[in-house]
Amino acid sequence: MDFRYTPEQEQFRDSVRRFAGNHLAQGAHARAHSPEYPWDVAQLMAAQGLLGITIAEADGGQGGSLLDAVLAIETVAAVCPKSADVVQVGNFGPIRVLAEYGTPRQKERYLKPLLAGASVIAVGMTEPESGSAVTDLETAAIAEGDGYRVNGSKVFTTHSTHADVLLTYVRFGPGVGGIGSVLIDLKAPGVRFGQRSKFMSDETWAQIYLENVFVPADMVVLREGGFKKQIAGFNVERIGNAARSLALGRYAYERARAWAMERKQFGRLLCEFQGLQWKFADMKVKLDAAQLLLYRAAANADRGFPSAEETAIAKAFCNQTGFDVANDALQVMGGLGFSQEELVEYCVRRCRGWMIAGGPIEILKNRIAEAVFERSFPQRPAN
Ligand SMILES: Cc1cc2nc3c(=O)[nH]c(=O)nc-3n(C[C@H](O)[C@H](O)[C@H](O)COP(=O)(O)OP(=O)(O)OC[C@H]3O[C@@H](n4cnc5c(N)ncnc54)[C@H](O)[C@@H]3O)c2cc1C
Repeated sequence: MDFRYTPEQEQFRDSVRRFAGNHLAQGAHARAHSPEYPWDVAQLMAAQGLLGITIAEADGGQGGSLLDAVLAIETVAAVCPKSADVVQVGNFGPIRVLAEYGTPRQKERYLKPLLAGASVIAVGMTEPESGSAVTDLETAAIAEGDGYRVNGSKVFTTHSTHADVLLTYVRFGPGVGGIGSVLIDLKAPGVRFGQRSKFMSDETWAQIYLENVFVPADMVVLREGGFKKQIAGFNVERIGNAARSLALGRYAYERARAWAMERKQFGRLLCEFQGLQWKFADMKVKLDAAQLLLYRAAANADRGFPSAEETAIAKAFCNQTGFDVANDALQVMGGLGFSQEELVEYCVRRCRGWMIAGGPIEILKNRIAEAVFERSFPQRPAN
């Protein structure tokens, strides 16, 4: 076991650090407070090879490992927290499912612009009546001619207000076995958006109504029976979510650490008060522990998908740690931490959302408990 980065990882991290310093440091604050997707950043990242890090070279990616993508997200977030979302979109989310399971035609049409930083893909799983119980989803795909008629609705979809295409979980038939996925162009006839809303993190979202949307057969990604594969791919999204939680927690910690070495009260630096020293010690322990769990899940995945158990452990711990540390950092910075002059309050708000998005912490703990007891615990009432 070796806890050091390899020379290649060091080199990669240094190159990302230089890129972030040169292109992302300036404007980091404004970017975090803008509701817009940072398209300029996406294009710069595409040119730098930071989109598609884990995607095969044959598909236009870099052929790297999941840990490389985690290193990229951390290094970018340390300079510009909002830009880490672009690394997520280009590496961890539904893009990876598309790269893994998509047909050559789907990849040609959708993957290319995604890797060029010119497009965004969103994932639509959650529905008004099926959140944690995702397999209860009702959006139906009924065979018609050379395709399917899709009816249903999706809520809370990240990037719903500016994505071009939606990897949509649909039901081809009853039960878990009836679930699969299709690609839906968000400008297609029958796609309608509800009123725009905002999360506490300031991200916008809008309910997506799918009303008799015709989906050609060649836009099916996974047919019925594809749910397990879909979730295996979704574990990559969870790793990106965990990585951002940890990275934004660390960003806030670094700001607070610098502040504690500069700000004086009662004639002493904040870092000289033991009450705050212990807070920092706790933050440091949590961040390091979370990082090890995250790296374990990512490193063991290598070029494949991470294990469900290691992903659940990493995400649950990183989500909690990111939020706790960012929140403690805010406290240490007092009124300044709570103010929008600093991005610490932004980190707290973003980290709070990741405790729910991509599988809430409680649902991840259910998954971990199943591994602990080596049995499944159905959450539904007995018939
Ligand atoms: C910032 C953000 C971004 C998101 N982005 C997307 C996206 O891009 N695409 C998408 O499809 N969805 C997205 N979501 C939705 C997210 O996946 C759901 O919010 C999540 O799955 C929980 O569903 P729910 O909100 O309906 O809560 P519910 O399922 O109603 O759960 C409410 C609470 O009860 C708990 N709970 C439920 N069942 C159990 C149980 N069996 N045991 C213990 N506790 C339980 C949950 O953990 C939660 O705390 C996003 C959400 C957020 C906050």
